[in-house]
Amino acid sequence: MCGIFGIVGHGEASNLTYLGLHALQHRGQESAGIVASDGHILRAHRQMGLVADIFTAPVIDGLPGDAAIGHVRYSTAGGSQLKNAQPLFVAWAGGQFSIAHNGNIVNAAELKASLEADGALFQSDADTEVVMHLLARSKQPTFEAKLVESLRKVEGAYSILLLTEDKLIAVRDPHGFRPLVLGKMKEGAFVVASETTALDLIEAEVVRELEPGELIVIENGVLRASMPFKPAPRLGRCIFEHVYFAKPDSVLFGSSVYEVRKRLGMQLAREQPAPDADLVIAVPDSGVPAAIGFSQTSGIPYDVGLIRSHYVGRTFIEPQQSIRHFGVKLKLSAVRSVLKGKRVVVVDDSIVRGTTSRKIVKMLKAAGAVSVHLRISSPPTQWPCYYGIDTPSRTELIAASHSTEEIAKYVTADSLGYLSLEGLGAAVEDPKRSTYCTACFSGQYLTEKLSRDSDAKLSA
Ligand code: AMP
Repeated sequence: MCGIFGIVGHGEASNLTYLGLHALQHRGQESAGIVASDGHILRAHRQMGLVADIFTAPVIDGLPGDAAIGHVRYSTAGGSQLKNAQPLFVAWAGGQFSIAHNGNIVNAAELKASLEADGALFQSDADTEVVMHLLARSKQPTFEAKLVESLRKVEGAYSILLLTEDKLIAVRDPHGFRPLVLGKMKEGAFVVASETTALDLIEAEVVRELEPGELIVIENGVLRASMPFKPAPRLGRCIFEHVYFAKPDSVLFGSSVYEVRKRLGMQLAREQPAPDADLVIAVPDSGVPAAIGFSQTSGIPYDVGLIRSHYVGRTFIEPQQSIRHFGVKLKLSAVRSVLKGKRVVVVDDSIVRGTTSRKIVKMLKAAGAVSVHLRISSPPTQWPCYYGIDTPSRTELIAASHSTEEIAKYVTADSLGYLSLEGLGAAVEDPKRSTYCTACFSGQYLTEKLSRDSDAKLSA
């Protein structure tokens, strides 16, 4: 769970990177950073916290140059500390370079152990640092060839941006787990970002998504593209990006996130109807498009029964269970006049631990709802993600060990219905789900390491 943004060929590179990161803030709220190059020297600023709080005018003024990369982070590998904030930045025999990574490298522990045995000194716990060490040790003649050799040793999910003194490189792993899109500004600058919403904000035109396994180099205003990796046996675009993670105004993997989410809700209404309900409401913000879809297909009116405070972040931001528990109440409040005496369908995108749903059902009933029918616009989340989405271990995933009836009882809902895996495939217009990774719902991990390593699955 991270967002990345890079730009090259613009006099206000770090300012535009700041804006791009602002548009990607939903992808990670723990730390943010920008590294800029003026053609000779790279300068970095990384800090814990939110983009708008970190990048004040003097900080941005201290990052001159016409190329920059930036990162917003939510920790998946490595703890929540400044040393793990990205972009990572090093000086080495070949000069300076910086790297910003979205994804998760599944064989990072093995690679790190062998590099350490060989004398490497790691400065962070971030899996991304492995790539830097591999690159610095490579005997290949060029930076690009060193990078390719390093990434061939890496398994897992990576959309990566690299900045050197004079070029920007962008790479997407052969499965295409995480998104990465190329854009261009009117003035000629190239932009690469996790989601199109960042390009829209700075008025850059969307050129295309990077292909899975593609590497592009932008140097002296010229873009070179290549496909240096062995293609993956099948694609593994993250279906959870569409369910929850991406911003609804983005176009991701060729589809509008908003339209996909609405279709999820429509399909959910067909699969899990609630014929006696008076009203459909959403858990804002992520449940809104699906709730509208549910309402349109079922004919049950949509209304706003829960209000989200915009002054707290996503519930998951607080890593401790005790704070998260409290956080739901801080974030959401119920509208009594809408709910009183009503039989309510409440639509959310997913249940992870069940904490949020339980609080919400209680809140709705306390506000006067006579019955609460919980509808979830994705299948039960049963498996942890090893490819960059923050999910807890199997023991904490309520659907890994409880039936739908048991979960309904735990969250005190009058009924509970999940979308089927087939329904999810239909909504992303890939009924067989052959271009998507659905591991969090199906347990089918696509990298050799995890499908081979069943112990990792069982102990996770
Ligand atoms: P829980 O209380 O653990 O069941 O969390 C469920 C809520 O968290 C849902 O409302 C989702 O919108 C949201 N959610 C699902 N997956 C994630 C994730 N990986 N990171 C942050 N929030 C999530």
